[in-house]
Amino acid sequence: MTKHTIVVGSGISGLTAALLLAKQGRQVTLVERLPHIGGFLNRFNRSGLRFDTGFHFTGGFDGILSDFLELLNLQDDVKPAPLQTEIFIADTDHRFKLPCNGLSGLTDTISSHFPQDAAAIRKYYTAEQEIIDATPIFNFKSFDKADFFSMMTQYDAVTLQEYMDSLELKSPELKAILPIMALCHGTPPVESDFPYHCRCSYNLESHLTAVQHGGDAFLSGFKREFAKYGVTIKTATTIKELKFSETSPTCTAAILSDETCMEIDDIYFAINPQSFIGLFPDSCLPARIKRRVKNLKPTCSFFTVCGCLDDGFQLENRLTFFLRDSDINQMLLPNATNYSTGIVTSNDPLNGRTTFTAFRTMFLEDAIAQCGGPFDGSYRHEQKYLEFKEKTTESILQDIAQTYPSLRGHLKVLNSASPLTSQRFSPPFGSAYGTRQTIGVSRLSGRLPVVNCHALGHHAHFPGILGCILGAYLACMTKS
Ligand SMILES: Cc1cc2nc3c(=O)[nH]c(=O)nc-3n(C[C@H](O)[C@H](O)[C@H](O)COP(=O)(O)OP(=O)(O)OC[C@H]3O[C@@H](n4cnc5c(N)ncnc54)[C@H](O)[C@@H]3O)c2cc1C
Repeated sequence: MTKHTIVVGSGISGLTAALLLAKQGRQVTLVERLPHIGGFLNRFNRSGLRFDTGFHFTGGFDGILSDFLELLNLQDDVKPAPLQTEIFIADTDHRFKLPCNGLSGLTDTISSHFPQDAAAIRKYYTAEQEIIDATPIFNFKSFDKADFFSMMTQYDAVTLQEYMDSLELKSPELKAILPIMALCHGTPPVESDFPYHCRCSYNLESHLTAVQHGGDAFLSGFKREFAKYGVTIKTATTIKELKFSETSPTCTAAILSDETCMEIDDIYFAINPQSFIGLFPDSCLPARIKRRVKNLKPTCSFFTVCGCLDDGFQLENRLTFFLRDSDINQMLLPNATNYSTGIVTSNDPLNGRTTFTAFRTMFLEDAIAQCGGPFDGSYRHEQKYLEFKEKTTESILQDIAQTYPSLRGHLKVLNSASPLTSQRFSPPFGSAYGTRQTIGVSRLSGRLPVVNCHALGHHAHFPGILGCILGAYLACMTKS
Protein backbone atom coordinates (compact mmCIF):
# COMPACT_ATOMS: atom_id res chain seq x y z
CA MET A 1 0.00 0.00 0.00
CA THR A 2 1.29 3.54 -0.81
CA LYS A 3 2.21 5.56 2.23
CA HIS A 4 0.59 8.98 2.42
CA THR A 5 1.67 12.25 3.96
CA ILE A 6 -1.39 13.85 5.48
CA VAL A 7 -1.73 17.58 6.13
CA VAL A 8 -4.68 18.48 8.35
CA GLY A 9 -6.16 21.98 7.92
CA SER A 10 -6.02 23.97 4.70
CA GLY A 11 -5.31 27.54 5.82
CA ILE A 12 -2.14 29.19 4.55
CA SER A 13 -0.08 26.93 6.86
CA GLY A 14 -1.55 23.66 5.59
CA LEU A 15 -1.49 24.84 1.96
CA THR A 16 2.18 25.78 2.21
CA ALA A 17 3.12 22.53 3.96
CA ALA A 18 1.18 20.42 1.44
CA LEU A 19 2.95 22.05 -1.49
CA LEU A 20 6.44 21.89 0.04
CA LEU A 21 5.96 18.21 0.92
CA ALA A 22 4.54 17.34 -2.52
CA LYS A 23 7.55 19.03 -4.09
CA GLN A 24 9.74 16.66 -2.05
CA GLY A 25 8.08 13.84 -4.04
CA ARG A 26 5.61 12.74 -1.38
CA GLN A 27 2.06 11.52 -1.95
CA VAL A 28 0.22 14.31 -0.10
CA THR A 29 -3.42 14.38 1.02
CA LEU A 30 -4.77 17.67 2.38
CA VAL A 31 -7.68 17.17 4.79
CA GLU A 32 -10.10 20.06 5.53
CA ARG A 33 -13.21 19.89 7.73
CA LEU A 34 -15.08 22.67 5.92
CA PRO A 35 -16.52 22.26 2.39
CA HIS A 36 -13.78 24.49 0.92
CA ILE A 37 -10.03 24.96 1.40
CA GLY A 38 -8.30 28.19 2.45
CA GLY A 39 -9.15 28.87 6.11
CA PHE A 40 -8.77 32.59 6.82
CA LEU A 41 -7.60 33.21 3.23
CA ASN A 42 -11.18 32.84 2.05
CA ARG A 43 -13.13 35.80 0.71
CA PHE A 44 -16.88 36.20 0.20
CA ASN A 45 -19.35 38.19 -1.91
CA ARG A 46 -22.04 40.60 -0.73
CA SER A 47 -24.07 42.72 -3.18
CA GLY A 48 -21.55 41.98 -5.92
CA LEU A 49 -18.61 43.19 -3.79
CA ARG A 50 -15.72 41.03 -2.60
CA PHE A 51 -14.66 40.97 1.08
CA ASP A 52 -11.76 39.41 2.99
CA THR A 53 -12.29 37.29 6.07
CA GLY A 54 -8.88 37.01 7.79
CA PHE A 55 -6.31 38.41 5.38
CA HIS A 56 -6.17 42.12 4.59
CA PHE A 57 -2.49 43.05 4.44
CA THR A 58 1.01 41.74 4.89
CA GLY A 59 4.65 42.77 4.87
CA GLY A 60 7.70 41.15 3.37
CA PHE A 61 7.38 41.91 -0.35
CA ASP A 62 10.81 43.58 -0.07
CA GLY A 63 12.40 40.38 1.17
CA ILE A 64 11.30 37.20 2.87
CA LEU A 65 7.74 36.97 1.51
CA SER A 66 9.01 37.39 -2.06
CA ASP A 67 11.61 34.68 -1.42
CA PHE A 68 8.92 32.30 -0.17
CA LEU A 69 6.57 33.12 -3.06
CA GLU A 70 9.36 32.22 -5.47
CA LEU A 71 10.01 28.97 -3.63
CA LEU A 72 6.30 28.11 -3.93
CA ASN A 73 6.12 29.41 -7.54
CA LEU A 74 3.39 31.88 -6.52
CA GLN A 75 5.36 35.01 -7.44
CA ASP A 76 3.17 35.72 -10.49
CA ASP A 77 -0.06 35.10 -8.53
CA VAL A 78 0.54 37.18 -5.42
CA LYS A 79 1.31 40.85 -6.10
CA PRO A 80 1.41 43.79 -3.68
CA ALA A 81 -1.17 46.59 -3.77
CA PRO A 82 -0.40 49.91 -1.98
CA LEU A 83 -2.14 50.50 1.35
CA GLN A 84 -1.73 53.74 3.29
CA THR A 85 -1.42 53.02 7.03
CA GLU A 86 -2.39 55.36 9.85
CA ILE A 87 -2.99 55.36 13.57
CA PHE A 88 -5.88 57.22 15.19
CA ILE A 89 -5.97 57.50 18.99
CA ALA A 90 -9.54 58.43 19.85
CA ASP A 91 -9.16 59.78 23.40
CA THR A 92 -6.52 62.34 22.33
CA ASP A 93 -7.83 62.77 18.76
CA HIS A 94 -4.24 62.25 17.58
CA ARG A 95 -3.74 60.74 14.11
CA PHE A 96 -0.77 60.29 11.87
CA LYS A 97 0.32 58.35 8.82
CA LEU A 98 2.96 55.67 8.97
CA PRO A 99 5.58 55.59 6.22
CA CYS A 100 6.50 52.40 4.37
CA ASN A 101 10.21 52.88 3.86
CA GLY A 102 11.74 50.73 6.57
CA LEU A 103 12.54 51.16 10.25
CA SER A 104 14.64 54.29 9.66
CA GLY A 105 11.67 56.01 7.98
CA LEU A 106 9.47 54.94 10.87
CA THR A 107 11.98 56.25 13.40
CA ASP A 108 12.10 59.65 11.67
CA THR A 109 8.31 59.96 11.25
CA ILE A 110 7.43 59.03 14.83
CA SER A 111 10.27 61.20 16.19
CA SER A 112 8.90 64.18 14.26
CA HIS A 113 5.60 63.76 16.17
CA PHE A 114 7.25 63.15 19.54
CA PRO A 115 10.62 65.02 19.46
CA GLN A 116 11.00 64.84 23.24
CA ASP A 117 11.23 61.01 22.94
CA ALA A 118 13.40 60.88 19.80
CA ALA A 119 16.30 59.12 21.55
CA ALA A 120 14.02 56.43 23.03
CA ILE A 121 12.31 55.87 19.68
CA ARG A 122 15.67 55.42 17.96
CA LYS A 123 16.77 53.03 20.72
CA TYR A 124 13.61 50.93 20.29
CA TYR A 125 13.95 50.45 16.53
CA THR A 126 17.73 49.94 16.77
CA ALA A 127 17.08 47.07 19.21
CA GLU A 128 14.46 45.67 16.83
CA GLN A 129 16.92 45.77 13.92
CA GLU A 130 19.53 44.05 16.12
CA ILE A 131 17.03 41.25 16.82
CA ILE A 132 16.17 40.86 13.14
CA ASP A 133 19.86 40.75 12.20
CA ALA A 134 20.26 37.92 14.74
CA THR A 135 17.38 35.97 13.16
CA PRO A 136 18.95 33.87 10.39
CA ILE A 137 15.67 32.84 8.72
CA PHE A 138 15.03 36.50 7.84
CA ASN A 139 17.98 36.20 5.48
CA PHE A 140 16.34 33.30 3.73
CA LYS A 141 18.71 32.98 0.76
CA SER A 142 21.75 32.27 2.93
CA PHE A 143 19.82 30.53 5.72
CA ASP A 144 21.33 27.32 7.06
CA LYS A 145 18.87 25.24 9.06
CA ALA A 146 21.43 24.68 11.83
CA ASP A 147 21.29 28.45 12.43
CA PHE A 148 17.66 28.39 13.39
CA PHE A 149 18.43 27.00 16.78
CA SER A 150 21.09 29.57 17.61
CA MET A 151 19.08 32.75 17.22
CA MET A 152 19.56 34.03 20.74
CA THR A 153 19.61 37.67 21.75
CA GLN A 154 20.17 39.69 24.90
CA TYR A 155 16.43 40.44 24.90
CA ASP A 156 15.11 36.85 25.11
CA ALA A 157 14.16 37.07 28.79
CA VAL A 158 12.59 40.52 28.51
CA THR A 159 8.89 41.11 27.88
CA LEU A 160 7.87 43.78 25.41
CA GLN A 161 6.29 45.65 28.33
CA GLU A 162 9.53 45.57 30.34
CA TYR A 163 11.49 46.85 27.38
CA MET A 164 8.96 49.63 26.83
CA ASP A 165 9.11 50.59 30.52
CA SER A 166 12.91 50.76 30.35
CA LEU A 167 12.63 53.47 27.67
CA GLU A 168 11.03 55.86 30.22
CA LEU A 169 8.88 57.45 27.52
CA LYS A 170 7.59 60.96 28.20
CA SER A 171 4.63 60.69 25.79
CA PRO A 172 2.02 58.16 26.97
CA GLU A 173 0.76 57.63 23.39
CA LEU A 174 4.05 56.04 22.40
CA LYS A 175 3.15 53.12 24.68
CA ALA A 176 0.63 52.21 21.98
CA ILE A 177 2.42 53.50 18.92
CA LEU A 178 5.77 51.71 19.25
CA PRO A 179 4.25 48.26 19.92
CA ILE A 180 1.25 48.86 17.59
CA MET A 181 1.89 45.66 15.61
CA ALA A 182 1.07 43.60 18.71
CA LEU A 183 -2.46 44.06 17.34
CA CYS A 184 -1.32 41.93 14.38
CA HIS A 185 -0.02 39.01 16.46
CA GLY A 186 -2.33 39.18 19.43
CA THR A 187 0.01 38.51 22.37
CA PRO A 188 -0.15 41.50 24.75
CA PRO A 189 3.08 43.35 25.66
CA VAL A 190 2.94 42.06 29.25
CA GLU A 191 3.11 38.48 27.94
CA SER A 192 5.19 38.48 24.76
CA ASP A 193 8.96 38.45 24.75
CA PHE A 194 10.50 41.39 22.97
CA PRO A 195 12.24 39.36 20.18
CA TYR A 196 9.01 37.50 19.34
CA HIS A 197 7.18 40.80 18.99
CA CYS A 198 9.95 42.25 16.78
CA ARG A 199 10.01 39.21 14.49
CA CYS A 200 6.25 39.39 13.99
CA SER A 201 6.27 43.18 13.51
CA TYR A 202 9.36 43.86 11.44
CA ASN A 203 8.00 43.27 7.94
CA LEU A 204 4.69 44.98 8.67
CA GLU A 205 6.47 48.02 10.09
CA SER A 206 8.98 48.19 7.25
CA HIS A 207 6.55 48.06 4.37
CA LEU A 208 2.91 47.12 4.87
CA THR A 209 0.85 46.41 1.74
CA ALA A 210 -2.37 44.77 0.63
CA VAL A 211 -2.34 41.98 -1.95
CA GLN A 212 -4.11 42.28 -5.31
CA HIS A 213 -7.22 40.04 -5.07
CA GLY A 214 -6.37 39.18 -1.43
CA GLY A 215 -6.58 35.51 -0.45
CA ASP A 216 -7.98 34.60 -3.90
CA ALA A 217 -4.52 35.24 -5.34
CA PHE A 218 -2.94 32.65 -3.02
CA LEU A 219 -5.72 30.13 -3.50
CA SER A 220 -5.70 30.11 -7.30
CA GLY A 221 -1.90 29.73 -7.30
CA PHE A 222 -1.94 26.91 -4.75
CA LYS A 223 -4.66 25.04 -6.69
CA ARG A 224 -2.58 25.18 -9.90
CA GLU A 225 0.56 23.94 -8.10
CA PHE A 226 -1.39 21.16 -6.34
CA ALA A 227 -2.59 19.90 -9.71
CA LYS A 228 1.01 19.93 -10.94
CA TYR A 229 2.37 17.99 -7.95
CA GLY A 230 -0.59 15.65 -7.50
CA VAL A 231 -1.84 16.85 -4.08
CA THR A 232 -5.16 15.17 -3.19
CA ILE A 233 -7.68 17.47 -1.49
CA LYS A 234 -10.37 16.06 0.78
CA THR A 235 -12.84 18.66 1.99
CA ALA A 236 -15.67 18.16 4.52
CA THR A 237 -13.36 15.58 6.08
CA THR A 238 -11.34 15.30 9.24
CA ILE A 239 -9.23 12.72 11.10
CA LYS A 240 -11.39 10.32 13.08
CA GLU A 241 -8.72 8.10 14.56
CA LEU A 242 -4.99 7.46 14.47
CA LYS A 243 -3.30 4.05 14.76
CA PHE A 244 0.09 3.68 16.38
CA SER A 245 2.95 1.19 16.23
CA GLU A 246 3.21 -1.12 19.23
CA THR A 247 7.00 -1.11 19.11
CA SER A 248 7.95 2.53 18.52
CA PRO A 249 6.42 5.98 19.08
CA THR A 250 5.17 6.17 15.50
CA CYS A 251 1.78 6.74 13.92
CA THR A 252 1.07 4.07 11.30
CA ALA A 253 -2.35 4.87 9.89
CA ALA A 254 -5.13 7.45 9.91
CA ILE A 255 -8.83 6.75 9.63
CA LEU A 256 -10.66 9.71 8.13
CA SER A 257 -14.21 10.79 8.90
CA ASP A 258 -15.29 9.34 5.51
CA GLU A 259 -13.97 5.98 6.84
CA THR A 260 -10.98 5.91 4.42
CA CYS A 261 -7.99 4.25 6.08
CA MET A 262 -4.59 5.58 5.01
CA GLU A 263 -1.23 4.12 5.83
CA ILE A 264 0.95 7.12 6.57
CA ASP A 265 4.58 8.13 6.60
CA ASP A 266 3.98 11.53 8.24
CA ILE A 267 1.10 13.65 9.45
CA TYR A 268 1.20 17.46 9.78
CA PHE A 269 -1.42 19.23 11.90
CA ALA A 270 -2.01 22.82 10.75
CA ILE A 271 -4.85 23.28 13.26
CA ASN A 272 -5.22 24.23 16.91
CA PRO A 273 -3.33 21.66 19.06
CA GLN A 274 -6.33 21.52 21.39
CA SER A 275 -8.28 20.09 18.43
CA PHE A 276 -5.92 17.19 17.70
CA ILE A 277 -4.27 16.32 21.00
CA GLY A 278 -7.16 14.01 21.90
CA LEU A 279 -6.23 11.73 18.97
CA PHE A 280 -3.09 10.64 20.84
CA PRO A 281 -3.44 8.07 23.63
CA ASP A 282 -1.51 8.74 26.86
CA SER A 283 0.83 5.89 25.99
CA CYS A 284 2.04 7.93 22.97
CA LEU A 285 1.93 11.47 24.28
CA PRO A 286 2.71 12.00 27.96
CA ALA A 287 -0.10 13.45 30.07
CA ARG A 288 2.11 16.41 31.04
CA ILE A 289 2.25 17.49 27.36
CA LYS A 290 -1.51 17.19 27.05
CA ARG A 291 -1.91 19.26 30.21
CA ARG A 292 0.37 21.92 28.78
CA VAL A 293 -1.60 22.04 25.55
CA LYS A 294 -4.87 22.31 27.44
CA ASN A 295 -3.46 25.34 29.29
CA LEU A 296 -2.41 27.23 26.16
CA LYS A 297 -4.35 30.47 25.95
CA PRO A 298 -6.02 31.76 22.76
CA THR A 299 -5.45 35.22 21.34
CA CYS A 300 -8.38 37.56 20.87
CA SER A 301 -10.90 37.05 18.13
CA PHE A 302 -12.59 39.85 16.18
CA PHE A 303 -16.07 41.21 15.72
CA THR A 304 -16.11 42.16 12.04
CA VAL A 305 -18.38 44.53 10.11
CA CYS A 306 -18.23 44.80 6.31
CA GLY A 307 -19.96 47.16 3.96
CA CYS A 308 -19.56 49.90 1.39
CA LEU A 309 -19.70 53.68 1.19
CA ASP A 310 -22.74 55.33 -0.35
CA ASP A 311 -22.50 56.26 -4.04
CA GLY A 312 -20.38 59.36 -4.52
CA PHE A 313 -18.19 58.69 -1.43
CA GLN A 314 -14.68 57.36 -1.85
CA LEU A 315 -11.61 56.78 0.29
CA GLU A 316 -8.14 55.61 -0.74
CA ASN A 317 -6.98 52.06 0.07
CA ARG A 318 -6.12 52.50 3.71
CA LEU A 319 -5.61 50.69 7.01
CA THR A 320 -6.41 52.70 10.12
CA PHE A 321 -5.64 51.39 13.58
CA PHE A 322 -8.42 52.96 15.67
CA LEU A 323 -7.32 52.86 19.33
CA ARG A 324 -9.71 53.88 22.10
CA ASP A 325 -6.69 54.92 24.16
CA SER A 326 -3.05 53.93 24.58
CA ASP A 327 -3.39 50.76 26.66
CA ILE A 328 -2.67 47.92 24.23
CA ASN A 329 -2.57 45.26 26.97
CA GLN A 330 -6.19 45.91 27.75
CA MET A 331 -7.12 45.32 24.08
CA LEU A 332 -5.45 41.93 23.93
CA LEU A 333 -6.46 40.28 27.19
CA PRO A 334 -9.78 38.64 28.08
CA ASN A 335 -12.24 40.65 30.18
CA ALA A 336 -10.94 43.60 28.21
CA THR A 337 -11.86 47.09 29.28
CA ASN A 338 -10.54 48.50 26.04
CA TYR A 339 -10.48 47.62 22.35
CA SER A 340 -9.01 48.56 19.02
CA THR A 341 -10.74 48.48 15.66
CA GLY A 342 -8.77 47.91 12.47
CA ILE A 343 -10.49 49.71 9.58
CA VAL A 344 -9.54 48.73 6.04
CA THR A 345 -10.95 50.62 3.07
CA SER A 346 -10.46 49.30 -0.41
CA ASN A 347 -11.49 50.41 -3.89
CA ASP A 348 -12.93 47.82 -6.21
CA PRO A 349 -11.26 48.48 -9.59
CA LEU A 350 -14.22 46.94 -11.47
CA ASN A 351 -17.07 49.10 -10.14
CA GLY A 352 -15.22 51.95 -8.42
CA ARG A 353 -17.01 51.38 -5.08
CA THR A 354 -15.15 51.79 -1.79
CA THR A 355 -15.72 48.89 0.58
CA PHE A 356 -14.82 48.81 4.27
CA THR A 357 -14.02 46.02 6.69
CA ALA A 358 -13.70 46.91 10.35
CA PHE A 359 -12.54 44.36 12.91
CA ARG A 360 -12.70 45.00 16.63
CA THR A 361 -10.67 42.99 19.14
CA MET A 362 -12.95 40.77 21.23
CA PHE A 363 -12.50 37.43 23.00
CA LEU A 364 -14.95 34.61 22.40
CA GLU A 365 -15.64 34.31 26.12
CA ASP A 366 -16.37 38.05 26.38
CA ALA A 367 -18.68 37.91 23.36
CA ILE A 368 -20.58 34.98 24.91
CA ALA A 369 -20.89 36.85 28.20
CA GLN A 370 -22.06 40.04 26.45
CA CYS A 371 -24.79 38.30 24.50
CA GLY A 372 -26.10 36.32 27.44
CA GLY A 373 -24.75 32.92 26.32
CA PRO A 374 -23.71 30.17 26.37
CA PHE A 375 -26.50 28.92 24.16
CA ASP A 376 -27.83 25.40 23.78
CA GLY A 377 -27.46 24.52 20.12
CA SER A 378 -27.82 27.21 17.49
CA TYR A 379 -27.51 30.80 18.70
CA ARG A 380 -27.83 32.56 15.36
CA HIS A 381 -31.51 33.41 15.63
CA GLU A 382 -31.56 33.98 19.40
CA GLN A 383 -32.95 37.42 20.22
CA LYS A 384 -30.15 38.16 22.72
CA TYR A 385 -27.53 37.31 20.12
CA LEU A 386 -29.18 39.45 17.45
CA GLU A 387 -29.37 42.40 19.86
CA PHE A 388 -25.68 41.99 20.76
CA LYS A 389 -24.76 41.95 17.07
CA GLU A 390 -26.81 45.02 16.31
CA LYS A 391 -25.41 46.97 19.27
CA THR A 392 -21.80 46.05 18.49
CA THR A 393 -22.20 46.79 14.79
CA GLU A 394 -23.55 50.24 15.65
CA SER A 395 -20.65 50.88 18.03
CA ILE A 396 -18.12 49.88 15.32
CA LEU A 397 -19.83 52.24 12.86
CA GLN A 398 -19.31 54.98 15.47
CA ASP A 399 -15.57 54.16 15.48
CA ILE A 400 -15.46 54.54 11.70
CA ALA A 401 -17.44 57.77 11.83
CA GLN A 402 -15.17 59.16 14.55
CA THR A 403 -12.16 58.28 12.40
CA TYR A 404 -13.69 59.72 9.19
CA PRO A 405 -16.38 62.26 10.23
CA SER A 406 -17.37 62.93 6.59
CA LEU A 407 -18.57 59.33 6.30
CA ARG A 408 -21.07 59.54 9.16
CA GLY A 409 -24.43 58.39 7.82
CA HIS A 410 -22.90 57.13 4.56
CA LEU A 411 -21.80 53.64 5.64
CA LYS A 412 -23.91 50.77 4.36
CA VAL A 413 -23.48 47.55 6.37
CA LEU A 414 -23.58 44.36 4.29
CA ASN A 415 -22.37 41.76 6.79
CA SER A 416 -21.26 41.30 10.38
CA ALA A 417 -19.63 38.35 12.14
CA SER A 418 -18.97 37.88 15.84
CA PRO A 419 -16.33 35.70 17.56
CA LEU A 420 -19.06 33.03 17.75
CA THR A 421 -19.02 32.94 13.94
CA SER A 422 -15.19 32.74 13.92
CA GLN A 423 -15.43 29.76 16.25
CA ARG A 424 -16.93 27.73 13.39
CA PHE A 425 -13.98 28.61 11.15
CA SER A 426 -11.26 28.49 13.78
CA PRO A 427 -12.24 25.96 16.44
CA PRO A 428 -12.33 25.85 19.40
CA PHE A 429 -11.89 29.55 20.37
CA GLY A 430 -12.34 31.49 17.13
CA SER A 431 -8.96 33.05 17.89
CA ALA A 432 -7.61 35.36 15.20
CA TYR A 433 -3.95 34.50 15.76
CA GLY A 434 -3.92 31.07 17.37
CA THR A 435 -2.50 30.61 20.84
CA ARG A 436 -0.85 33.45 22.76
CA GLN A 437 2.95 33.19 22.64
CA THR A 438 3.55 33.89 26.32
CA ILE A 439 7.12 34.32 27.56
CA GLY A 440 8.41 31.18 29.28
CA VAL A 441 5.56 28.97 28.07
CA SER A 442 6.66 26.45 25.48
CA ARG A 443 4.13 25.66 22.79
CA LEU A 444 3.55 22.67 20.59
CA SER A 445 5.45 23.19 17.37
CA GLY A 446 7.53 21.10 15.01
CA ARG A 447 8.03 17.40 15.55
CA LEU A 448 6.02 15.83 18.38
CA PRO A 449 7.23 13.01 20.65
CA VAL A 450 5.42 10.71 18.17
CA VAL A 451 8.18 11.09 15.63
CA ASN A 452 6.23 11.24 12.40
CA CYS A 453 3.63 13.72 13.73
CA HIS A 454 4.21 17.48 13.46
CA ALA A 455 2.48 20.65 14.65
CA LEU A 456 2.46 23.85 12.63
CA GLY A 457 0.10 26.69 11.83
CA HIS A 458 -0.38 30.03 13.54
CA HIS A 459 -0.68 28.27 16.89
CA ALA A 460 2.87 26.97 16.56
CA HIS A 461 5.25 29.70 15.35
CA PHE A 462 4.20 33.13 14.14
CA PRO A 463 0.66 34.16 13.20
CA GLY A 464 -0.26 36.03 10.05
CA ILE A 465 0.25 34.93 6.49
CA LEU A 466 4.00 35.46 6.50
CA GLY A 467 4.51 33.78 9.87
CA CYS A 468 2.44 30.78 8.81
CA ILE A 469 4.41 30.31 5.58
CA LEU A 470 7.64 30.57 7.54
CA GLY A 471 6.38 28.10 10.19
CA ALA A 472 5.31 25.60 7.54
CA TYR A 473 8.69 25.89 5.86
CA LEU A 474 10.53 25.22 9.13
CA ALA A 475 8.31 22.23 9.99
CA CYS A 476 8.67 20.64 6.54
CA MET A 477 12.33 21.42 6.18
CA THR A 478 13.25 19.43 9.29
CA LYS A 479 12.12 16.27 7.46
CA SER A 480 13.78 16.87 4.09
C1 LIG B 1 -10.41 39.09 11.14
C2 LIG B 1 -8.98 38.68 10.96
C3 LIG B 1 -8.11 39.51 10.28
C4 LIG B 1 -6.79 39.11 10.05
N1 LIG B 1 -6.01 39.90 9.29
C5 LIG B 1 -4.79 39.47 8.91
C6 LIG B 1 -4.04 40.21 7.97
O1 LIG B 1 -4.47 41.23 7.46
N2 LIG B 1 -2.80 39.74 7.64
C7 LIG B 1 -2.29 38.58 8.16
O2 LIG B 1 -1.16 38.22 7.80
N3 LIG B 1 -3.00 37.86 9.06
C8 LIG B 1 -4.24 38.26 9.42
N4 LIG B 1 -4.98 37.52 10.31
C9 LIG B 1 -4.39 36.29 10.88
C10 LIG B 1 -4.28 35.21 9.82
O3 LIG B 1 -5.52 35.09 9.15
C11 LIG B 1 -3.94 33.85 10.46
O4 LIG B 1 -2.83 33.95 11.33
C12 LIG B 1 -3.62 32.79 9.41
O5 LIG B 1 -4.45 32.89 8.30
C13 LIG B 1 -3.77 31.42 10.05
O6 LIG B 1 -3.54 30.42 9.08
P1 LIG B 1 -3.60 28.88 9.54
O7 LIG B 1 -3.34 28.09 8.32
O8 LIG B 1 -2.68 28.63 10.69
O9 LIG B 1 -5.06 28.66 10.09
P2 LIG B 1 -6.54 28.86 9.41
O10 LIG B 1 -6.51 29.85 8.31
O11 LIG B 1 -7.39 29.09 10.59
O12 LIG B 1 -6.79 27.44 8.79
C14 LIG B 1 -7.06 26.31 9.56
C15 LIG B 1 -7.92 25.40 8.71
O13 LIG B 1 -8.04 24.15 9.39
C16 LIG B 1 -9.39 23.71 9.33
N5 LIG B 1 -9.60 22.81 10.46
C17 LIG B 1 -9.76 23.15 11.76
N6 LIG B 1 -9.91 22.03 12.52
C18 LIG B 1 -9.84 20.98 11.66
C19 LIG B 1 -9.92 19.57 11.83
N7 LIG B 1 -10.09 19.02 13.03
N8 LIG B 1 -9.81 18.78 10.72
C20 LIG B 1 -9.63 19.31 9.48
N9 LIG B 1 -9.55 20.65 9.27
C21 LIG B 1 -9.64 21.48 10.35
C22 LIG B 1 -10.20 24.98 9.39
O14 LIG B 1 -11.50 24.79 8.87
C23 LIG B 1 -9.33 25.92 8.51
O15 LIG B 1 -9.70 25.83 7.15
C24 LIG B 1 -6.31 37.88 10.57
C25 LIG B 1 -7.18 37.04 11.29
C26 LIG B 1 -8.49 37.42 11.46
C27 LIG B 1 -9.42 36.50 12.18
